[in-house]
Amino acid sequence: MTSPVWRPFFQHAVEPDPPVIVRAEGAYLHTSDGRALLDAISSWWVTTHGHRHPRIMAAIREATESLDQMIFATVTHEPAERLARELVAIAPAGLAHVFYSDSGSTAVEVALKMALGAFANRGEKRTTIVALEGAYHGDTIGTMSVGERGVFNAAYEPLLFDVARLPFPALGREQATLDRLEQIARAGGVAALIVEPLVLGAGGMRMYPPSVLTELGRIAREAGALVIADEVMTGWGRTGSLFACEQAGLSPDILCTSKGLTGGAVPLAATLATAEIFEAHLSTDRSKTFFHSSSYTANPIACAAAVANLEVWRDEPVRARIAALGAAQSKRIARFEGDPRFANPRVCGTIAAVDLVAPDTGYLAEIGLTLRSFFLDRGLLVRPLGEALYLMPPYCVTETELDRLYDAFEEAAGLMG
Ligand code: PLP
Repeated sequence: MTSPVWRPFFQHAVEPDPPVIVRAEGAYLHTSDGRALLDAISSWWVTTHGHRHPRIMAAIREATESLDQMIFATVTHEPAERLARELVAIAPAGLAHVFYSDSGSTAVEVALKMALGAFANRGEKRTTIVALEGAYHGDTIGTMSVGERGVFNAAYEPLLFDVARLPFPALGREQATLDRLEQIARAGGVAALIVEPLVLGAGGMRMYPPSVLTELGRIAREAGALVIADEVMTGWGRTGSLFACEQAGLSPDILCTSKGLTGGAVPLAATLATAEIFEAHLSTDRSKTFFHSSSYTANPIACAAAVANLEVWRDEPVRARIAALGAAQSKRIARFEGDPRFANPRVCGTIAAVDLVAPDTGYLAEIGLTLRSFFLDRGLLVRPLGEALYLMPPYCVTETELDRLYDAFEEAAGLMG
């Protein structure tokens, strides 16, 4: 019988049925037919320490003994309170308040609403959002609006709002991006600049240096605009530091986090904001309330998982693992330098990527599906973004496993014909 499940980003007419996973452990997903798949993309970038980290799973089990979902507009609970205190303590300076939601997209929606709400409540007419070309911030209406337009959202165009775009700060063309931001800022009315710090993830793992991020933040601030750091993908060590903003010395006004917040075990997201943004919503005039909620806000089990994730960060050598993984990726990706079959080998922290030189590129190119099956047949869970082959493995991945992956990349180039 065909499955009634409608899968995400999945063309049911042409894609084969996916493998059924019966167990997840460390860097592997185990299939019902006895195969072990090496999860080289951390299951869409959520799994940081490895699947089913014992400490996080234990915290989830323990939380279920006493708590389940409860209405967060009316009551509170210790896992949410403790997590908020701990997040504020480790986040970039100035972020003082934590608003919970349940996915990266909602964290960004909340950020956009906070920015516009803060100006509206202060009676300041600032409504323009500035975003980077090639950005991805999610698949809800607001997040698609600030993300890159293309095949993914063409049909939904009537639902989307306009934003001002900056060209991607490609190597040697950084000044054009900064100049464009200056120009937009001069026109006035800018509420916020939203950025994926250092790495544009779904846009093809495109990387830019911390110095550009520092300058983007400076220009936005000088124009009186807020800076929203979408750290949904880059957070929790992916770029080498806990948050990517740290490398640019940038303290954003709003920071969005999800994915690795619970180590990848259960869904949770948080939008952190400065006291100024919180206070702009503070008034005896109740029309200035921050009007946002979702049923599962601050799920206690998810918050307990996130608290345990922070304990793992505190008690285990996570930073050393990240540094070692970064070095191992840099060493291996170097083999593609000067190889005509590959372009632009690059690394940022634990993330490595290289572009296949293919005759037909982009998300809809046939090669995308071919590559996915090619890797799956070899027991490797790799999901190229168009022609960009990338690795974003959990931090428990071994050097031997990395060698397997890089050898498979090399072999995949042979498919280009
Ligand atoms: N922002 C960024 C930078 C992302 O990479 C993603 C997802 O990949 C999102 C937002 C959306 O997160 P979610 O898929 O959890 O809604």
